Amino acid sequence: MVTITNALYALILYHSLSIPFVIFGAQSMRILIVEDDAILSHHLKSQLSELGNQVQCANTAEEGLFFAQNYPNDIAIVDIGLPDRDGISLIKDMRKKGLRLPIMILTARSNWQDKVTGLEAGADDYLVKPFQKEEMVARLSALVRRSAGFVKPEMTAGDIRVDLLAKQVYVCDELLELTAFEYDLLEYLMRHSRQVVSKQRLLDVLYEDQEGDPNTIEVMISRLRKKFTKTGQNNPISTIRGQGYIFEISAQ
Ligand code: CA
Repeated sequence: MVTITNALYALILYHSLSIPFVIFGAQSMRILIVEDDAILSHHLKSQLSELGNQVQCANTAEEGLFFAQNYPNDIAIVDIGLPDRDGISLIKDMRKKGLRLPIMILTARSNWQDKVTGLEAGADDYLVKPFQKEEMVARLSALVRRSAGFVKPEMTAGDIRVDLLAKQVYVCDELLELTAFEYDLLEYLMRHSRQVVSKQRLLDVLYEDQEGDPNTIEVMISRLRKKFTKTGQNNPISTIRGQGYIFEISAQ
């Protein structure tokens, strides 16, 4: 049992009250959270419960596997760094045991490769910590909607479709040839569609701890636009002068 301090309670209350209450609609979900960070876990549970969902928390991989096997959860959120073993091996085990519920992994931004390993192990999507609650709820909601048919992890925006596992982008089902950096840039902008993303943020995403040249972002954005317009589609990326870039089509 974790004691909730007044400060933590205030934090949870603040975050609970500031999110929309009807994201999942009327449908109540059973959500399993496997996360050893007690504060984050409580925080997530509070936010998701406020939306009318039933939330179960495990703080080790073993406990997570037990809950996943013995309770009818609709979706699982799995942290990669767990105290007994890593989340990747837990996901592999869940899939080996025939559990087909959608799984969202939580990774630290510095562990860029975790998301690929996680998706390959059988996760359906990932969130990079720290994340905005709105993004988490939107991603979970999209996952749950897609899960009925257990489809492969993908994101769409109009005629643009991204295969998150193969890291391929299709426009009207035609493959768009992108470099790895162009892909990462586009995926990030699509994940934050209809929001202004600063050039510095994109540099941080692409180069992590290394020093990146802001000009490379401009070059890559311009190449991406050319590639889009070549397909006969309108260019979906706009420049907001002095602020950054925005992917104009709502992506899910
Ligand atoms: Ca952890």
